[in-house]
Parts: sequence; C-alpha cells; structure tokens
Amino acid sequence: MISLYVHVPFCRRKCPYCDFYSSDTNLDILDHYHHDLIKHLQVARLGGWKGPVKTLFFGGGTPSLLTPNQVALLVDAVDQQFGFAPGAEITMEGNPSSLNHENLSGFRNAGVNRLSIGVQSLDETHLTLLGRQHTAGQAEKVFCQARKAGFDNLGADLMFALPGESLSDLERDLDRFLRLEAEHLSCYGLTIEPGTEFAARRDKGEFALPDEDRYADQYQHLHDRLSSVGYRHYEIANYCQPGFECQHNLNYWQRRSFLGIGAGAHSFSLREWGVREAVPPDLERYSRLLAGGHDPAELLERFDREGATRETVYLALRSADGLDAEAFLDRFGESFDQMFADEILKSAPWLSREESHWRLQVGGWLIFDHLISRFL
Ligand code: SF4
Repeated sequence: MISLYVHVPFCRRKCPYCDFYSSDTNLDILDHYHHDLIKHLQVARLGGWKGPVKTLFFGGGTPSLLTPNQVALLVDAVDQQFGFAPGAEITMEGNPSSLNHENLSGFRNAGVNRLSIGVQSLDETHLTLLGRQHTAGQAEKVFCQARKAGFDNLGADLMFALPGESLSDLERDLDRFLRLEAEHLSCYGLTIEPGTEFAARRDKGEFALPDEDRYADQYQHLHDRLSSVGYRHYEIANYCQPGFECQHNLNYWQRRSFLGIGAGAHSFSLREWGVREAVPPDLERYSRLLAGGHDPAELLERFDREGATRETVYLALRSADGLDAEAFLDRFGESFDQMFADEILKSAPWLSREESHWRLQVGGWLIFDHLISRFL
C-alpha cells in the first residue's frame, strides 16, 4: 500500500509570506496540467510503483482551483493505475476564496472525503496583513457549505505569532476557530522566509515577529486550550478530534513510502535504506518529459544506514506516538537506547520512555530544532 501526493502548484496570487513553488494560473494551464498528472500516474506505475493507495492528498499551491470534473478524472486515474485500499483517505487542500457550494459538492462527489482549508486567521486585520484573499466571514461560510456538501472530516490551518499579535488576540481568534468545530487544526507560527515580500518588509523595519518568549507563550496557550476542549496534540503543529489524525501525514512521520506526482513533488521509497526523488519545479520540462513517456523525477538522496537512522528519529519524535524502540531494533539491529545513550541523557527531562515508546514532552517540541540537532 502506498500514499500518493498530487501537487498542484498554482495560486491566484502569491501570499507575501509564502516561499512554496507556485505559479499564476489560468484555465488552459490547469487543463493541460491535469492531463500531465494523469500521464504521470501511468509513467509512475510503469516505473514500478504499486498500489493500492491508502491515502491520496491533493496539495499545493491551491488544489481547489481544479474543477470537480478534473478532480474526478484524477481520482479515476489513480483507481485505474493503482486501485484504492478500502476506506482510503482522500484529502484536498483548498482556500476559502476558491471554494463554494457548487465545487464543494462536486469535490465530495468526486470522492474527496477530507478537506483542509487554509483559513489562517479569523481576524480581519491579520487576514489583511497576511495578504489573504478571503474574509473571516467567507471562511466561516465555506465551513458551513462544506458540511452541507457532506464533508464530515474538515481541517483548518491557523497561524499564530503574527506581527503585533498578543495572547488575548490569539485567544479571540481561537474562540472563533473553535466555533468551526473542525475535526483537525494545523497551527503554524509565522516564519519569515528569505526572498519573500515579508522578508523585504521586515528588513525595511515595517514589522517584527514576536520574540521567543511570546512565541513560546502562544504555542503553550494553543496546546492548553485545544487540549482542554478535547483536541489531541498529535504532532508538533497538528491537533485533531480523537480518531481524526491525518493518515497521509502520519505516513510521512512513520517514514513509509509515498509517491509524489506533479511538478515540484517529492517521493520516498523504502527500498534498501530509503531513496528520495524530486520532480523539478519546472512546468515546461515536466510536460515535455511526460509527452515522451519519461519519468520527470530525479534522484535527490540515497540513504545509508546512518542517514536512515537519523531521519527515523527526526520524524518519529515529531509525533505524539513517538519512537517505537522495538520497531527501531527490528529495523536497524541495534537498540535506540544504546545508540543514543548520551543524547537521551542530555535531552532529559523533555524526552521520556513509556513502555517501548520514546516521546518528547510539549516543552520539548517547543525547542525541537535544538533538541533534535543532538541526534542528527
Ligand atoms: S495560497 Fe498557499 S501556497 Fe498559495 S501563495 Fe498563499 S500560502 Fe502559498
């Protein structure tokens, strides 16, 4: 069984903080691209990828710019090439500005059973600052429309640690988010990436991000509040109602194989110690290679045992399930406790063992980059 990621690298307009690969779009480009994706599925199967697909994830970019008919054709093509496992999770990311009653029903009928909506904030000042194309009211309306269209697994993205945001601002935003009754919430602190419009504005002194203490207060506040109303904090940035973990992302954190389709997509195959491939983010090249029946993916990294060990630790400690010491011993023929005895000692009290699982506390997640660097 595999997980399948379909990358849709188009957005109506670039958000000023975003450094993901995405291009402007029009209907012709999307139509052409969705045909390329279908060709790519076929090329990947001929290249040795095997189903059935247990999770399918349309990410981007803005996949909700595809029409329901294009999504239905893609879901059919996945079924034809690989088949679906029973109960497969089919997720689509979407923005409130490109979702409406009609396309929501269409996406649901096409087989999408989980939506992840890029809300980011329900505060108008923050939405304007972030350059988003929707209002808070629009985002709330899209949630109601999605429920009416039959979605019973909805996620929302929430951004915190915004310039000038206080704890009480976050608390107000969170009150509105909780009224959405989303099954899943992804909570990301804003970061300023090199080369973005935000980086230029920060450099001109137009704004600054909250300092480390304020970031930590907001992160801890999100954890406390969301846990108190029944959400499970199951990964550094992700919360869900019980039983609504994103199966597709769990697959990444468990370091299992996944196939990436589309310009800019990555794949990982667990053969030997692991092989990572990437499709360069170049639409012209992508289309040309597929037209000739060639695989557009290029080798990015071939792991050795040490690299596989370190990546396993890095991914596992991000999640609440943590690192399974027995599975680690089976996989690598050496005990995690012995291999990393010094690092484990230095990471107390953030890292602890319960039965066979090593887990980081929430305070450890807050300084994850610092702690994990010891294991890498
Ligand atoms: S919609 Fe998402 S992917 Fe597109 S520019 Fe904005 S943040 Fe980036």
